[in-house]
Amino acid sequence: MILTNYHSHSHYCDGKGSPEQQVQGALAQGLRAFGFSSHCPVSFENQWSMKAGRLDEYLAETRALQAKYEGQIELYVGLEVDFIPVTADDKSASVSVGMANPDEQPLGPENFPMLDYCVGSVHYVGLNQFGQPWEIDGSSVEFLECLDTLYGGDIQTVIQKYYGIIRQMVETDPPQIVGHLDKIKMHNAARHLFDEAELWYVEEVEQTLRAIAKAGIITEINTRGNYKRDLDLYPSPWIIRRMKELSIPICINSDSHRPEEITASFPLAYQAAKAAGYTEVRVLLGGRWQDIAL
Ligand SMILES: [Zn+2]
Ligand SMILES: [Zn+2]
Repeated sequence: MILTNYHSHSHYCDGKGSPEQQVQGALAQGLRAFGFSSHCPVSFENQWSMKAGRLDEYLAETRALQAKYEGQIELYVGLEVDFIPVTADDKSASVSVGMANPDEQPLGPENFPMLDYCVGSVHYVGLNQFGQPWEIDGSSVEFLECLDTLYGGDIQTVIQKYYGIIRQMVETDPPQIVGHLDKIKMHNAARHLFDEAELWYVEEVEQTLRAIAKAGIITEINTRGNYKRDLDLYPSPWIIRRMKELSIPICINSDSHRPEEITASFPLAYQAAKAAGYTEVRVLLGGRWQDIAL
């Protein structure tokens, strides 16, 4: 079996260890290909993105590793890029919000000659009660405070906004890989907010999957919620089954933040992919995206 992982973080953002330590971890865990995808700098202060001034160093260091380890492992240079659209109700923003990527350019590869690929992720939904971008994958305490203060606990409205932003990304600015599709469900562990079988939720997911299928891009099966929080995969197995019906290509990623996490919970992801009927995964090998047997 050929193992790959294109979603990983190092000390350039909120991960632990250097890019070379990641490579050592990937070699020790038997990977054929490994992609660096630090959090792309954003135009406001946050706890986990790379600082804008470090991007050139990141690119130079990871490209040098690509050359150094040639013949041992295929290395690819990417970024996990936030998609943060400016919306009408964001006018009170106390910071500049916009699409966050190195040049605030659309995500297409023609605009990123310095990258091999992008993981496009939504971590922010509008603004919080302090007029700052509202982080949906941080602490549940802060998420729930904002949900109650600004939305009166109305999770349906927030989730519809969340999936709406993912669709906007996919339709206007598609990355190669959609990151952790249903990550917003993680707050259900702190307080039961919704049931994934509710019709409105199924409908949001369905619309989003149709947009992804139309764009022809990859959706990752991301294992981080499982090994970090003992949650299900991102996305949930019922969504993976629907992705298969819509012929959406998958790749299996751990979203590792430490070298030892690079293949964490991979057996669960492979099992879920197979159970959904997938026989192939899409991988970046030999410099091109291709389908190989699961
Ligand atoms: Zn992410
Ligand atoms: Zn990530």
